[in-house]
Amino acid sequence: MPYRGRFAPSPTGPLHLGSLIAAIASYLDARHSNGSWLVRIEDLDPPREDRGAADSILYSLQCHGLHWDENVLYQHTRNSAYNAALISLADRGHLFRCGCNRITLSKSGACLDNCRTSQTTISDPTAIRIRVPLDQDIFFKDRLQGPAYSPLGQSLTDFVVRRRDELYAYQLAVVVDDAEQSITHVLRGSDLLDSTPRQIFLQQRLALATPSYCHLPVITTKQGQKFSKQNHAPALDNSKASSNLRSALRFLHQCEPPATLASVEQLLAYAIEHWSLERVPAILSMPAANIGLST
Ligand code: GLU
Repeated sequence: MPYRGRFAPSPTGPLHLGSLIAAIASYLDARHSNGSWLVRIEDLDPPREDRGAADSILYSLQCHGLHWDENVLYQHTRNSAYNAALISLADRGHLFRCGCNRITLSKSGACLDNCRTSQTTISDPTAIRIRVPLDQDIFFKDRLQGPAYSPLGQSLTDFVVRRRDELYAYQLAVVVDDAEQSITHVLRGSDLLDSTPRQIFLQQRLALATPSYCHLPVITTKQGQKFSKQNHAPALDNSKASSNLRSALRFLHQCEPPATLASVEQLLAYAIEHWSLERVPAILSMPAANIGLST
């Protein structure tokens, strides 16, 4: 199967160094394998989104020389595909409506059979959950973090696939779209590691192929917090694209490009040629201070 990778940002704010690291790792891995690299804007959750963030992310990617193949896929255009997936799951009895609230849910978010058994008393609108058998395990081999095991039926049982506010859940949308785009390789931050078993479970229920997964260390502040809009991660300065690329490569422990390479095109050509996943630290997070950045 031809290699197809992707970068799938949520447009909650501008591109920052944390998201650039995921973008560049997925880009280099794809290009090093002569593969395609696609971009998908995960604009599935309007209340969490920033106006203009999608365009700003795409502009920053271009400034950093990260040019994608094919058209950008926007999740806000994909509701009929998500609905078709829900119908296919519902037709086979995998879904149920859940009218639980924070008080009736367990600590882990499970609805503890309140709704599985009392469908008729639930009034709309409600969340829709997928049934996960209690003995459901998921195993997968992460290319960087190694073998991973999840007792899914115990830990994240009956998770939500469509929310009470009628928005499709990220877990469902990402699975439907990775399949639509025929993604073979996913490289993304380790903050999504615990989503992967749910995604593999959905792929199995929908008879979709499971891509190969690789979860990268996420960059953190000194206090160990993930770079994010909530933690005031600074937007990347597009006028310093070469230096941003060098920081991302240093974070990923890649060969340092010679100082004579100045343009983003030169830096990326060098980085594609020398890309080595084996050099990336197999850890879940790493402070920005490790690459000489202050936060
Ligand atoms: N949209 C998700 C995010 O920005 C990433 C999804 C993914 O890579 O699977 O955190």
